[in-house]
Amino acid sequence: ANADAPAELTDGYHLVVDALKLNDVDTIYGLVGIPITDLARLAQAEGIRYIGFRHESNATHAAAAAGYLTKKPGIALTVSAPGFLNGLVGLANATTNCFPMVQISGSSERHLVDLKQGDYEEMDQLAAAQQFCKAAYRISRVEDIGRGIARALRTAVSGRPGGVYLDIPAAVLGSIMDKAEGAKTLSRLVDPSPRQLPAPDAVDRAIELLAGAERPLVVLGKGAAYAQADDRIREFVESTGIPYIPMSMAKGLLPDDHPQSAATARSLALKKADVVMLVGARLNWLLNHGQAPQWNPDAKFIQVDIEPKELDSNQPIAAPLVGDVESVLEVIAERAKPGQISAPAAWREELATRSAANVQKMAGRLAADPHPMQFMGALRAVRDVLRENRHAYLVNEGANALDMARNVIDMHVPRHRLDVGTWGVMGIGMGYAIAAAVETGQPVIAVEGDSAFGFSGMEVETICRYGLPVTVVIMNNGGVYRGDETNPLDDAPAPTTLMLNARHDQMMEAFGGKGYRATTPAEVTAALTEALAAGGPALIDCAIDPGAGSESGHIAHLNPKGITAGT
Ligand code: ADP
Ligand code: MG
Repeated sequence: ANADAPAELTDGYHLVVDALKLNDVDTIYGLVGIPITDLARLAQAEGIRYIGFRHESNATHAAAAAGYLTKKPGIALTVSAPGFLNGLVGLANATTNCFPMVQISGSSERHLVDLKQGDYEEMDQLAAAQQFCKAAYRISRVEDIGRGIARALRTAVSGRPGGVYLDIPAAVLGSIMDKAEGAKTLSRLVDPSPRQLPAPDAVDRAIELLAGAERPLVVLGKGAAYAQADDRIREFVESTGIPYIPMSMAKGLLPDDHPQSAATARSLALKKADVVMLVGARLNWLLNHGQAPQWNPDAKFIQVDIEPKELDSNQPIAAPLVGDVESVLEVIAERAKPGQISAPAAWREELATRSAANVQKMAGRLAADPHPMQFMGALRAVRDVLRENRHAYLVNEGANALDMARNVIDMHVPRHRLDVGTWGVMGIGMGYAIAAAVETGQPVIAVEGDSAFGFSGMEVETICRYGLPVTVVIMNNGGVYRGDETNPLDDAPAPTTLMLNARHDQMMEAFGGKGYRATTPAEVTAALTEALAAGGPALIDCAIDPGAGSESGHIAHLNPKGITAGT
């Protein structure tokens, strides 16, 4: 090199992009503004796919879904203070659901923020983020960008995955340093999510418990789906013959019509199982905390989880198996003698008999075709089209739209169902749908309650702008839960109502996508079939009876009952 030539320079923007690329980050979900606009531009110029949203919570939800689907941290990019705060919902939801993601946010000048001098979008974002994520870090010097990004990525994806907040003040992005020196500060993570094997004696303890069980049951959760240990899981379930129940996002890990699925005999399975093996599933509210009367009070629990602190959180765990699902099942397969674990035939038959009866009852409910259209009819139509399009992803949120779709729509492929998750949160719809389409290139069907859709509905513009193969199917009954409630004073709409006969299909048309209005299941089938074949943005507004649906769906018991109960 010529000693007289001016030094080649780099800056914070370039170092952030270089560090992300060095660690295989290929997509950023964000919303630009001061101080991160040039960061998005540069990332795009350097070959990182940038997906720009209309609201930050949808961008962070998208990053979370990307993390779940790919087992690599999804990246969200937000501006200071309000943009940062909007993004926190997605960050917190990702952490609750154990999805790996990093929210990178620009922030205001430290010296002004710390003395509260009143800067543009002033906020102590690091302090605010701390309680909503797995970890929060700030990069305060340009030479720490490589270290900060490596640390954020590893924290998100190792151990129990979760959301990480990474604060980068504007001044750091604008800092200039020598290019060669800057390159030396970057590093590529080695083994970002190391395997975690259980100890042999822990495995033997669990094997013995399973071997002695009369009515064993496996519960597969979204941690099992996330693990991408699909072959191992299938081999374990099928070689032992143990009936299993999939939590909603574990549907499809084994096809829902698998003979060992006890999903359609769920209450019997929980009530009677004597040894329960939880695989990447938590005994939280979604499983009634493992308590009687839903569960057998004498049940013994085996728990496979990567997070030791999770164990004993609700019920005593008789056989803890701390490790990643793949490694745990591998060691079980190595140490169990052939035929040692085998579900008794009587138990399998008892569940199969109950399943058959329940399936028949459900078939009766599904066959009816009353007018106006009910949830069941519209969802049956979606189910039938999805059966012919198993590669399509399903996103699902709402109350009744969620409860009923979960039961009606079978999944056949692992990780193809993304829903409201651990919180039962509304607002994930378009963010998850966009991420599923972007990350996989496959068609996505988002089955949405009309109220749930409203939280992220503006992102239909994003779907159209990027020409994504997303079909939104809205169960439009004109309300939160249902659309027929009246206000006794008759001077304003009731709290649960939305606009009756709203035409969400015209929203999609406004941005250049294809809109459909369906009033019968046959019209839903025709529209969805056409939309999937076309492969572009579409929205089917399903006119559902405003009187259909129940308050809070299946979780009405969570509404506190005061003296107004029953009024
Ligand atoms: P669900 O709602 O489907 O029951 P949860 O989100 O409640 O699922 O539980 C997922 C569990 O899986 C969490 O406790 C998490 O620590 C665990 N987990 C996540 N990834 C892995 C993995 N690779 N191996 C083992 N456990 C995992
Ligand atoms: Mg509704």
